[in-house]
Amino acid sequence: MERRPIMAGNWKMNLLVGEAESLVKGLLAALKDTADVDVLVAPAFTSLYPVARLLAGTSIGLAAQNLYWEEFGAFTGEVNAKMLRDVGCSHVIIGHSERRQFFGETNETANRRLKTALSGGLVPILCIGETLEERKQGKTLALVQEQLEKGLAGIGPEEARRIVLAYEPVWAIGTGETATPEQAEEVHAHIRKLVGARFGEAVAAGTRIQYGGSVKPDNVQSLMEQPDIDGALVGGASLKAESFARIVRYKA
Ligand code: PEP
Repeated sequence: MERRPIMAGNWKMNLLVGEAESLVKGLLAALKDTADVDVLVAPAFTSLYPVARLLAGTSIGLAAQNLYWEEFGAFTGEVNAKMLRDVGCSHVIIGHSERRQFFGETNETANRRLKTALSGGLVPILCIGETLEERKQGKTLALVQEQLEKGLAGIGPEEARRIVLAYEPVWAIGTGETATPEQAEEVHAHIRKLVGARFGEAVAAGTRIQYGGSVKPDNVQSLMEQPDIDGALVGGASLKAESFARIVRYKA
């Protein structure tokens, strides 16, 4: 099955509103004729609304970097799915390794966030991936399996169709060290096999699995040539319009 590539820029805790607006204007100009790739940007919460206004009516979509699972109420500092939809988000990143590492996120909390994203009409991008220590110990495939099983607990095949997965080896995030295309493909193929065993072959064939970890204009093409890599989740290189646009246009 042909899977439409999906490229997402995770801006993390960077850019003031004016800077975010400039970046998105640059991207819109650079990506005017890009038709065959889904493109998303994930600004910080403070820039979602102004960026959404610039993206309205364009082909670039808006993602949030996190959400909380309660519907409303006394949860200081949190935002829910409805609020994210309200400011124009279509997608939300769930369980990013920085959330796991610095904010106590677990597979269980990722699962709660994922379910609330789905019921709230957002497409979740569920991030999974091993640390360097886990890779060295030969635990990568088992770890990814556990993250997937727990992260997708209670999800049915119809919901699974709406989920995007992102394989992000923690040792490759923000380090300049990229998994080789072969290393990444091994894990992506394993993930697809697990999705097939759990939700059926049709769901597995349609599931888009992004790779994340120091994706740059120079390495994106060799990653995207792998049969089970369907896109990229990009941190550092998404903060400049020129480099993210080159990643999106990896085929050119
Ligand atoms: C990320 O933010 O998910 C990421 C992969 O970051 P970087 O591209 O900077 O490694």
